[in-house]
Amino acid sequence: MKKISIVVPIYNEEKVIPFFKNRILNIIKKEEKYEIEVLFVDDGSNDKSIEIIKNIRKQDKRFSYISLSRNFGKEIAIYAGLDYAKESDAVVLIDADLQDPPELIPKLIEQWENGYDDVYAKRKRREGESFIKKITSKMYYIVLQKFTNIPIQKDTGDFRLLDKRCVQAICNLKEEARCSKSLFSLIGYNKKEVLFERDKRIAGTTKWNYKKLVNLAIDGITSFTISPLRWSTYLGSIIFLTGLIYITSILFHSNEIQGYQIVLSTVLFLGGLQFFIIGVMRRIYRKNF
Ligand code: UDP
Ligand code: MG
Repeated sequence: MKKISIVVPIYNEEKVIPFFKNRILNIIKKEEKYEIEVLFVDDGSNDKSIEIIKNIRKQDKRFSYISLSRNFGKEIAIYAGLDYAKESDAVVLIDADLQDPPELIPKLIEQWENGYDDVYAKRKRREGESFIKKITSKMYYIVLQKFTNIPIQKDTGDFRLLDKRCVQAICNLKEEARCSKSLFSLIGYNKKEVLFERDKRIAGTTKWNYKKLVNLAIDGITSFTISPLRWSTYLGSIIFLTGLIYITSILFHSNEIQGYQIVLSTVLFLGGLQFFIIGVMRRIYRKNF
């Protein structure tokens, strides 16, 4: 019997977990062909989430959990879950707040059985998200695609089914700043989309704020491209050359060198050199890509 682990990151979801448990149970009890495990990853919640999870585990052994020592953020929580479940034949990633409908899981499994390795759920539209969130996310993906060469699936979150070999490939990537969305793309394999309607959060509030989003956005770009550094090299070379030309011209054409000319040429010369060196240093930091 094939084993499927459903990994659910949890951060302060005490209001949500009981709803989630009922909805997911309805699904897994119908999937008799598989051995299904629901793995909660408690990401250092400071409400009653972990007690609720422990109670569920006591009543039903299909539910299990990992409890992280503090809040590490969803990306790391997912990584912990994947690492724990890497011997399962497939892993489904799903949010606890029922924005990702568990009813879609059978469809994901169906496509997996058709031979796809990474079956991702793509939103038809986004419910319950502010206009600003939608527009910033749209702009971000345009920038991300311009900077990095890794194709990112649009309107797709972490809700997906990953075959064992994808899970193992992802666990082998020892990235510190983990941006799952790009990692899923990076590993390759056969991908397949399944469309769905993203619902509103069933209860509680979003754990995201703009600071977290901006950090993730920066990680998404800087961990997958060196192009900002390459630009630094280009810019540095231009400034450096300008400085050089300027110095040469004042040496040859001025009878008397002015103070500001010395200051200006030194600034251009050193500034350009620094930009240039920053770009060269990328070789030391980027060994993987
Ligand atoms: N989450 C987590 N750690 C965090 C923040 C969020 O494990 O530091 C979990 C959260 O409990 C939920 C999922 O990640 O199951 C998605 O979070 P949320 O619904 O707040 O994000 P949104 O859907 O608004 O992007
Ligand atoms: Mg949510």
